[in-house]
Amino acid sequence: MRTVPPVSLSNGVEMPQLGYGVYKVPPQDTADLVTLALESGYRSIDTAALYGNESGVGRAVRDATADGIGGLDREDLFVTTKIWNDSHGYRAALQAYEESLSQLQLDYVDLLLIHWPCPAKDLYVETYQALESLYHQGRVRAIGVSNFEPDHLRRLLDEADVVPAVNQVELHPYLQQTGLRDFHEAHGIRTEAWSPLGRGVVLEDPTLQRLAAKHGTSVSQVVLRWHIQLGNIVIPKASSAGRIRQNFEVFDFVLDAEDLGTISQLDRGRRMGSHPNEVN
Ligand code: NDP
Repeated sequence: MRTVPPVSLSNGVEMPQLGYGVYKVPPQDTADLVTLALESGYRSIDTAALYGNESGVGRAVRDATADGIGGLDREDLFVTTKIWNDSHGYRAALQAYEESLSQLQLDYVDLLLIHWPCPAKDLYVETYQALESLYHQGRVRAIGVSNFEPDHLRRLLDEADVVPAVNQVELHPYLQQTGLRDFHEAHGIRTEAWSPLGRGVVLEDPTLQRLAAKHGTSVSQVVLRWHIQLGNIVIPKASSAGRIRQNFEVFDFVLDAEDLGTISQLDRGRRMGSHPNEVN
């Protein structure tokens, strides 16, 4: 079976560049869809306390790694979860991690993120220090953030010890985040794209449709391939076996320089989600 090429995080931990995201996957369907993703070759799963489906993710991971049945080792899989906005602060974040582990019924997660900086609360440095303490205790393999703007990252770089391994942000052809990607690159932070397909909206774009026809692929494959070639980590969500499998088949074709130039022209600063400074 094909494996997804890994990217190295700043602490040397390897993370698959393509994973399966489960935002809005109903809790009752999560274990089955994650199992399907694992059977299709995905090895990385992105969930969050907010999604209410950590227990389904954990069930699928435990089934896949059950001795003699699943055929995979826990070390083969990469699980991300996130601390929600109501759990900012040192103690609250530590407690939230215990709650996530208890939902997942796993001993550790591979990557623990702060979901949003919530700048009006002004607690994200303290929250991050809780993640650092879990990291130093070896209870998570890597720590990072999500939806952090350069100002928020600068404060962490100044006031914390561990450089965030990733910043997971909204990123797709209509919101290419060029400045933020450059900032990440300069500081050894990996860019992870949420809503990599622009929640499906960019799939209607005629320019992307033309590129898909040129390569004999689907539009979602062109978009995911573009992310891969930019070096982004991607976590598309899909709800059917066909789409889950299709989104995985992005390693057998290459976009040329002209294609990449064409896609770069599609940026229009259009968000499908909230601006990080507006979420608290
Ligand atoms: P995506 O950009 O992944 O788009 C998902 C949408 O695209 C769904 O409507 C899906 O339809 C559709 N789709 C997927 N594959 C195909 C395909 N091959 N052909 C046609 N349509 C397709 O959006 P998400 O917002 O779900 O983002 C992905 C992940 O990012 C989330 O699941 C979550 O893990 C993470 N995320 C993180 C956030 C954060 O704040 N950190 C915020 C939002 C998301 P269908 O489901 O019907 O198959």
